[in-house]
Amino acid sequence: MKKQFAVIGLGRFGVSVSTELHKLGHEVLAVDINETKVNEMVNDSTYSSVADGADEKALRGLGITNFDHVIVAIGDNIQASILCTLLLKEMGIASVWVKAQNYYHHKVLDKIGADKIIHPEHDMGNRIAQHLVSDKVIDYIELSDDFSIAEIAAPSFMNQQSLIDLDIRAKFGVTILGLKRGKQFNISPRAEDQIQANDILIVIGHKNDLKRFEENT
Ligand code: ADP
Repeated sequence: MKKQFAVIGLGRFGVSVSTELHKLGHEVLAVDINETKVNEMVNDSTYSSVADGADEKALRGLGITNFDHVIVAIGDNIQASILCTLLLKEMGIASVWVKAQNYYHHKVLDKIGADKIIHPEHDMGNRIAQHLVSDKVIDYIELSDDFSIAEIAAPSFMNQQSLIDLDIRAKFGVTILGLKRGKQFNISPRAEDQIQANDILIVIGHKNDLKRFEENT
């Protein structure tokens, strides 16, 4: 279903979020205080507009209250990012996701009701580091301080074995959420499904268990 998003702040992060949402077929309003940035987004958004995200009147003028999802991607200007988030939550926007610059920014955003706080550099750095240290880990997403999802290349000994035979949850405490085989994606593998060479396992679990799984398989 087509959704409506507004992205405020068109730095690298805001541009990449807007462009991808637009490519996925959603309606995207792209906003920045800088006209040049707005003009650059004309082809990669549904509407684009010059406005100050920290100005209530300007936000109302954009019809921002008609949007269910707003992404605040104002980078360095932490004060504007906080004010914008506060105004959006006061206006009753259901889902406000905000890019945080640092720990203190995060704390304030949390207090004023941001629905999700994103640290793109930190998260990406984390994922890259996981790739670097292990040639088995293909991707890595941190869910919380303790839990993560990892995409791990299936080790050769699993070849032709079923999930029930491998008994991975009992042995390692992690759960296989899905199997990727080339372009095919099995998101609810059954106990009798067999793993084949070159499969990629999508595994969820406690970080310690994931590490143990990755190191001992
Ligand atoms: P990134 O790290 O994602 O590249 P930047 O800090 O470079 O982020 O970019 C943030 C964007 O937010 C800039 O394009 C800037 O013009 C815009 N911006 C800054 N303040 C405001 C504001 N008050 N309202 C709307 N956009 C703003």
